[in-house]
Amino acid sequence: MKNNIVLALTKGRILRESLPLLADAGVEPAEPIDATRKLLLATNHEDIKLAILRGADVPTYVKYGAADLGIVGKDVLLEYGSEGLYEAADLGIACCRLMTAGIPNRVSNVGTLRVATKFVNITREYFGKKGKQIDIVKLYGALELAPLMDLADVIVDLVDTGDTLRANGLIPFEEILPISSRLIVNKASIRQKTPFLLPFIDSLAKLN
Ligand code: AMP
Repeated sequence: MKNNIVLALTKGRILRESLPLLADAGVEPAEPIDATRKLLLATNHEDIKLAILRGADVPTYVKYGAADLGIVGKDVLLEYGSEGLYEAADLGIACCRLMTAGIPNRVSNVGTLRVATKFVNITREYFGKKGKQIDIVKLYGALELAPLMDLADVIVDLVDTGDTLRANGLIPFEEILPISSRLIVNKASIRQKTPFLLPFIDSLAKLN
């Protein structure tokens, strides 16, 4: 019997760090991912396909069952919600920190802080808990530019080595959350495809 499992992967760093995990679990793309524009890829395993998506779309594909499984950053799950999804494992890959950052000695404690971020919900909750008044400037990328161009006082962004901050004259201020990639699963898939899916989930989860 065919199981037809679809695993949704987040393109970019998470994809690069997911491939060795999958290889260790015996699953490899049928063609090199870097050399193809295909978004749905066959694998060496006839029952498993890989969908290559933007992170923010991975929970949606898994929630509606278009994909059975997904690998996505915890930042995405917190920002866009993980309702209806089962978070099966912390895969311990693409680790980084969600932080506030800005220009040294430039931020004052008085008045409303302008915060540039793509993580609007997490940012609102974080500063709300601190009782700090903020205006959010929603951006989609290159957040480090915002303080330099006086569009914002601080940014909220993912930081790994800190090189991007340093290269733009910014320093990290406060850590909001440690972030890593999670294996998420469609709840109906677990029930319907248990004999095949559970061992596969186990093999991915055990490898970290
Ligand atoms: P770094 O210069 O190593 O601190 O990396 C920072 C840049 O990489 C920022 O543009 C971040 O948005 C991005 N980044 C860092 N870690 C991750 C991650 N785990 N997932 C996605 N983007 C990341």
